[in-house]
Amino acid sequence: MQDYLLLERSAQKSLSANEVMHLTSHYDSQEFNNEMIYKGDDLGVTYLNDQIQFKIWAPIAEYVTLLLYKKSYSETPIYTFEMNDHAAGVFEYSLPLLYDGFYYMFEVKNGDHFFDTPGPEVKVVGINGEKGYLCDLNTTDPDGFRETESPKLKNAVDAVIYEAHVRDFTVHHESGAEDKGNFLAFVQKGTKNTDHMATGIDHLKELGVTHVQLLPIYDYNCLDEAAPKEEQYNWGYDPLNYNAVEGSYSSNPKDPALRIRELKTLIMELHKNGIGVIMDVVYNHTSDQFDANFHKSAPYYYHRTEHGELTNASGCGNETATERFMMKQFMINSLLYWVQEYKIDGFRFDLMGIHDTLTMKEVSDALTAEKKDIILYGEGWSGGYSPLHEDLRLVKRNLNQVPTIGGFNDDFRDAIKGHVFYDEAGGFVQGKGFRESIKFGIVGSVYHDNIDYDFINYTDFPWANNPGQSINYASAHDNLTLYDKLKASIYDKEDEAKIKQMAKLASALVLTSQGVPFLHAGVEFLRTKFGDANSYRSPDAINALNWKLKTKNYDVFSYHKGLIELRKTYKHFRLGTQESIAKHLHFYKGENAYDHNLVAYTLDSPDDRNPDTLFVAFNGNQVEKRITLGEGTWDILVDADQAGTTSLGQVSGYVDITPTSTLVLIKTC
Ligand code: CA
Repeated sequence: MQDYLLLERSAQKSLSANEVMHLTSHYDSQEFNNEMIYKGDDLGVTYLNDQIQFKIWAPIAEYVTLLLYKKSYSETPIYTFEMNDHAAGVFEYSLPLLYDGFYYMFEVKNGDHFFDTPGPEVKVVGINGEKGYLCDLNTTDPDGFRETESPKLKNAVDAVIYEAHVRDFTVHHESGAEDKGNFLAFVQKGTKNTDHMATGIDHLKELGVTHVQLLPIYDYNCLDEAAPKEEQYNWGYDPLNYNAVEGSYSSNPKDPALRIRELKTLIMELHKNGIGVIMDVVYNHTSDQFDANFHKSAPYYYHRTEHGELTNASGCGNETATERFMMKQFMINSLLYWVQEYKIDGFRFDLMGIHDTLTMKEVSDALTAEKKDIILYGEGWSGGYSPLHEDLRLVKRNLNQVPTIGGFNDDFRDAIKGHVFYDEAGGFVQGKGFRESIKFGIVGSVYHDNIDYDFINYTDFPWANNPGQSINYASAHDNLTLYDKLKASIYDKEDEAKIKQMAKLASALVLTSQGVPFLHAGVEFLRTKFGDANSYRSPDAINALNWKLKTKNYDVFSYHKGLIELRKTYKHFRLGTQESIAKHLHFYKGENAYDHNLVAYTLDSPDDRNPDTLFVAFNGNQVEKRITLGEGTWDILVDADQAGTTSLGQVSGYVDITPTSTLVLIKTC
């Protein structure tokens, strides 16, 4: 019944294709762009010294009324104020500070219809993000928040990123956390599984990652924040209020300020522990088309259309028009707000291939000016056809036009463990070759004269200008977990020892390569989602990170920890430029050098403090392979079973590398 009413309402409010074309040509006219765009950064609610200022951009509205409510669920406003119509489509009103604590909406009259919205810029919301809430943001900082510094990042290649979902991280009973699944549980200290092994933030410190990338924490649409949390789950890729915080991770979603304070606490505690916070942002589409705040304030302005119909490059029903000034400006101001108010250290752009390249350049310029060491990357693809030509959008092949923004390296990902959409397909770790694509990942997707670019998975040229642009990964929240993929791809599904060897080899490729290593939460102890590749709304039973697996697969955990320690110790693995890689990284040309399942290289030192040469080899074969070594004696730092910075033994002359394994050697003399 409810769905039917919603459809009716949307249908009434939508226009015919001809009307939409008429309207969008108005938006794209010179006259509109001269007179009706607003360049200020103060849209929404601003607390001034002695008043609360409201501004909304509603360029075709006849008038806008400000509505105030006592309660989040009230249907009838207790105060209404007709807003003043300013130039450039902005409606403005100010109230004295004593209205603090009220809920608000803007009632926008567009054509024959009234649209109630808290406005696209709303920062503080009531339950389910329906209404805005008047609150001075200064009162939402936890003690010490402003003084706590973010960890510094010299170069993106120094980061080790860990991708986690707030609820998944602690909701399992083995997490040992209180108030499981919420913001505060994420950073609760001293938590352990039933075998007394560290979980949560203590585990992150033990592992050694430098950044956590959180799946959506902005206010998303699909969960009922008033309903019991254990009955619903979502990843959150359906944005409702881009500048507000999701309520379902709060210990009390009914308190509009609390979710802000709790998220800030999470960020502060990670910062205190030397871990940066990267936010997953989804500006490429809105959760709903006609109920979107964008649509209510400026119908059809913020979305792309073709022939008067919304287009769908996101695969979610619509796509945003970042090439329009106010959409671009919205995105930039929103991102700056998250950096300034929440101290976010970086952004991961969902379906970045939908955003136009010029906008992303401006995004990068604005964010880098605000925070010099910000880390920016995204998915260099879209989810469907867009009317904006691909040459103009920031898909992977155009990343070299914006050297400050990176992209997920799907060439490397699928070369490591097989095609992401064909469960049974194997890659290098299953002994299926992909040698050149593996080498391409090893050099961080830049130009290297020893790579044959005709044999790279999905590209035929080095799409990265610098290795900081290559986000190297074997698995992420999308698609099968690494463990599930490996299991699906091998003949003997019960051969856990084999899966472990392949998983170690996959992560060694990710953690030793030039570029930015990216780990899906739980990959370090063989996380399973029981074969569920698209678990975006699957229950906790599928998505929860089972911390008992840390005990069961402790050797895999130790291996990851050792690889991270190795990466941090030797600058060899973190060369910052294409030139430096060309100078220091040389692929092996000795015995078995042209085996498709064997890749090896030397890394000359870029670092006076660690002047020794490293030798790195990966054997994807199911059989042992012999490699001839350069002169001298070599200490083994990584073998099939262990990884770290202490010697596991010495070799000279040659070395036999065991099946499905990694070898890292350091020259001792
Ligand atoms: Ca929400």
